[in-house]
Amino acid sequence: MTNTRKAISLISGGLDSMLATRLILDQGIHVEGINFYTGFCVEGHTHAIRRQDRARPKRNNALWVAEQLGIKLHMIEVIEEYKQIVLNPKHGYGANLNPCLDCKGFMVSKAREWMEVNDFDFIITGEVIGQRPMSQRRDTMPVIARESGAGSRLLRPLCAQLLPMSLPESEGWVDRERLLALNGRSRKPQIALAQEYGLEDYAQPAGGCCFLTDPQYSHKLNDLWQARGNREYELDDIMLLKVGRHLRPRPHFKLIIGREEGENKYLEGYRHRFTSLLALSHSGPLVLLDGRADDSDLHLAARLVARFGQGRDANTVRVNITPPGQHTSTLEVAPMPSGEIPQNWYL
Ligand code: SF4
Repeated sequence: MTNTRKAISLISGGLDSMLATRLILDQGIHVEGINFYTGFCVEGHTHAIRRQDRARPKRNNALWVAEQLGIKLHMIEVIEEYKQIVLNPKHGYGANLNPCLDCKGFMVSKAREWMEVNDFDFIITGEVIGQRPMSQRRDTMPVIARESGAGSRLLRPLCAQLLPMSLPESEGWVDRERLLALNGRSRKPQIALAQEYGLEDYAQPAGGCCFLTDPQYSHKLNDLWQARGNREYELDDIMLLKVGRHLRPRPHFKLIIGREEGENKYLEGYRHRFTSLLALSHSGPLVLLDGRADDSDLHLAARLVARFGQGRDANTVRVNITPPGQHTSTLEVAPMPSGEIPQNWYL
């Protein structure tokens, strides 16, 4: 009778969780992956929309990692539950709107629930002490273990030798000597280990695993909350913040301007919800108007639409304006000179 121990590994799609999983697989443990979809994940969304990125292979990195490791991956959507983490993080935000410590605690806690229901033995993450300023510090790592309820069933193979003994180690399910003692922000040890394993073409997200670490994205999210007078969001809201150029010329409306064909196509799908503007006499971007706009606002919006299209140097441009479910009207306007657009309109 075999008594293979089973671990569930948080797979983000990046290198660290991939290596952590590999270290445990090498010790004969049965590992399955778990990936949580929050709506803010960098994972492939804008990349899939934008035409300019077409040369890069389109793939879901978490799935790709699981495939490389030869493990099963469970993808779990947590959009609604995750709102509480973004809106009211007990431990606050990082440099932007990233609630990393609460987020990690939440994900480990979801993995713990999964582990208990599915009769697995422990949880693996790719965390490294000192790698990230908020969630991956020596003093915050125990917080995640405690608040998630995972306790000593949480194993961080990449830095385990620097942490107190976890249950899988003390029970002899895994050999602590074959785990690592990585520490600090340098990526060199991980890159060397990846080479040793023959792993190539792994994803290397610049800021973090989600858009909440991005200053511009966080600024747009804050702007959205401020304009609406409440800190709430739906999935469509946070997806639209990833697409197009956002300009707020007036407190009560903003424009979302497609930057290229792929984005224009994506924005098309929202014409039933927002007033849309499109130059008629020249080619140009599809623009959505989010908010309330009276006649003078529409005139201003049309001038901006003209500015971002091929008619920017023309005397006048005709612009179609279509409120959702209503007839289209046309305005003939002078394009707004770029020097007249205040910088603070750009979000
Ligand atoms: S970067 Fe985003 S997904 Fe990663 S821990 Fe921070 S908040 Fe969570």
